[in-house]
Amino acid sequence: METRRLTILGATGSIGLSTLDVIRRHPDRFSIYALTAGTRASELAVLCREFQPEVAVMADPAAAKLLTELLADLPGIRVLSGTEGLCEVASAPTADTVMASIVGAAGLPPTLSAVRAGKRVLLANKEALVMSGKLFMDAVADSGAELLPIDSEHNAIFQCLPSERIRDPEGAGVARILLTASGGPFREHSADALRSVSPAQACAHPNWSMGQKISVDSATLMNKGLELIEACWLFNTTPERVEVHVHPESIIHSMVEYVDGSVLAQLGSPDMRTPIANGLAWPERIDAGVAPLDLFSIGRFHFERPDLVRFPCLRLAAEAFVQGGTAPAVLNAANEELSQPFWPVTCVLPISPLS
Ligand code: NAD
Ligand code: MG
Repeated sequence: METRRLTILGATGSIGLSTLDVIRRHPDRFSIYALTAGTRASELAVLCREFQPEVAVMADPAAAKLLTELLADLPGIRVLSGTEGLCEVASAPTADTVMASIVGAAGLPPTLSAVRAGKRVLLANKEALVMSGKLFMDAVADSGAELLPIDSEHNAIFQCLPSERIRDPEGAGVARILLTASGGPFREHSADALRSVSPAQACAHPNWSMGQKISVDSATLMNKGLELIEACWLFNTTPERVEVHVHPESIIHSMVEYVDGSVLAQLGSPDMRTPIANGLAWPERIDAGVAPLDLFSIGRFHFERPDLVRFPCLRLAAEAFVQGGTAPAVLNAANEELSQPFWPVTCVLPISPLS
């Protein structure tokens, strides 16, 4: 059995906590080298006491000072700060695996550091890949990093492709990738009703419990736009070969259609611990703590085409990818700035030990 030593970038977030929940179930397989967070020093201190990393990093220097005080009785844990600290633990030789789960553009420098250092990189931070596309994938090829997708849709596609042809789907006989989308909380809202929605409504995702930014991105369908770009880079394809299917049940996480008419799908409960466990243990399988899927209680699946008039972000993302260059980075930056006023409510429900 292979053992892995991890750096978790964004340990206090929704993905970070789900990752730690999977790791908690397999203490013989995984150990923690470093944990990082943005500003929440007291939350990171609690995680440090449980997981005993060698290094803890706060992006914010004032929060790093507070964390040093909170961990004064644990002198074995070195506290670092800033982007430099994040990049140091992402590329340190001691860790072989890096969970990239910082939200937004802030995740790019440490995620790219991990890639350049040739780590197994578990990619949740889709914005890093959207912003830097070719540069990111060239760095993966140059360093020999093992890039494994954690976004549920991309992890599903990864599972439905032959593992030696991930970057050559046409060679593997793939006709199209069918990227599923829940449609978000405003799927049935009229254009008029969309004018008066509140941040709390935007964060109330029907199927997933996630961080604030991705919840809002799911409500505008910008998340699916970012994922379309992410899929094009990860699987070396183009937007014409990726068709978004709105599937409100969020049970089919995506599909791959082959030229012989076969369509392979990956199904599961909407729980990020499944793709996280898949990335952590790949190519093996481990228990993720996820309840078995009960298809009898789900009963039916539905599919719709996305409405690009009410949800233009999806169209803008496809156009940005085709335009290339810095267009996807501009799209991502505009989205981060414009959606931020919609992030004030807390959406993350932390997972308690062995829930
Ligand atoms: P979150 O807001 O719950 O957590 C974000 C983490 O990043 C926190 O630990 C926070 O402290 C840290 N952080 C925030 N700003 C930072 C900064 N400037 N510098 C350093 N660290 C910073 O976010 P999340 O929902 O866990 O999402 C993380 C990433 O994973 C996003 O890119 C998101 O799109 C992607 N993702 C999330 C889900 C999900 O279910 N939550 C699913 C698929 C993909
Ligand atoms: Mg997703």
